[in-house]
Amino acid sequence: METKVVVIDKTNIRDEELLEAAKILRRGGLVAFPTETVYGLGANALDEEAAKKIYAAKGRPSDNPLIAHIAEYQELEGLVAGIPGAAGRLMKAYWPGPLTIIFAKSSKVPYGITGGLDTVAVRMPDDPVARRLIRLAGVPVAAPSANTSGKPSPTTAAHVYQDMNGRIDMILDGGPVGIGVESTIVDVTGETPALLRPGAITTEMLRETLGQVEIDPAIAGPVGDNVKPKAPGMKYRHYAPKAELVLVEAEAAKDKTAGGETGEKPAGVSPEVIQTICRKALEDMAEGMEVGIICTDETRDRYPEHARVRSLGLRHREETIARNLFGVLREFDDLSVDRIYSESFSEEHLGRAIMNRLTKAAGYHVLKV
Ligand code: AMP
Ligand code: MG
Repeated sequence: METKVVVIDKTNIRDEELLEAAKILRRGGLVAFPTETVYGLGANALDEEAAKKIYAAKGRPSDNPLIAHIAEYQELEGLVAGIPGAAGRLMKAYWPGPLTIIFAKSSKVPYGITGGLDTVAVRMPDDPVARRLIRLAGVPVAAPSANTSGKPSPTTAAHVYQDMNGRIDMILDGGPVGIGVESTIVDVTGETPALLRPGAITTEMLRETLGQVEIDPAIAGPVGDNVKPKAPGMKYRHYAPKAELVLVEAEAAKDKTAGGETGEKPAGVSPEVIQTICRKALEDMAEGMEVGIICTDETRDRYPEHARVRSLGLRHREETIARNLFGVLREFDDLSVDRIYSESFSEEHLGRAIMNRLTKAAGYHVLKV
């Protein structure tokens, strides 16, 4: 299959440019498109056969459900069995935006997109290309991240092209995304709303809107074989670069150093973390390995010259760190590094999502120093 790439100017979107993409979606094809979080791989969410093509193109396990994206509030009614009060408050506060809500599903939603679950994940994205496309398609659009299953999510159309060229009908290139990590997922089907995946709508924001919010244990680490994670995607290897990634973290008490004087946030990466990464990198390079290092602007000059050192930005600019993270992981794939060491980050606010992606990318390999 030939994959057509269409460049869209976000500041001047013309319907003519999106009509072909909308038609492809309506007739059961696949179109990748930008959203504010990451690029999505879209198909008609009410068409089981179309959804199957998503799983095939991504190599995604069929029990890992998809998020249905909508452009108008009225579309929600057809997808869900009911709208709990907590969902209403969340939608009012954060839609359109980077928040996915889990509802009890209606009979219209095929099990083929929910991984066999009786619930459905729904989001109304804020990106103008995504919304216009969904509106023109006239159907809810199932859209997981447009990467090969297991790889870092795509934050540019070039990332999508690398993974999906020849596998899908069209890629809409709307430029680099704004947020760079996937949507926050909240389950409102239980008694207490539960956070299933952290994202740009932070736990602090959710608690302000909802009061109590549980945090699903699968976010913090691998759950046992006998526990079924609430978000089925949690159990799979995710966001992973080809190289082994080691996250280096200071024991809590030491993590208060360097540059913390001015801001409220612990700016710090401890000297122990920097020393450990330097020592390990030098050892690996002495054995002939290519080593990548993930750091911030404050520390980039502290690492060995011959390592591939990449900064995610200034440490307190969490938005920048999040936006750059997957791109840097993919760059290391292109450079064929053998091992990557990464500094770790504060887990407050957007930091929780950043650390969640990093720990999963590292396969939970965290080195405490
Ligand atoms: P992706 O779109 O690739 O970022 O993945 C979507 C995520 O949403 C996966 O981790 C799923 O496990 C989660 N998800 C989708 N539908 C549901 C659902 N009905 N219940 C719980 N989690 C869901
Ligand atoms: Mg994904």
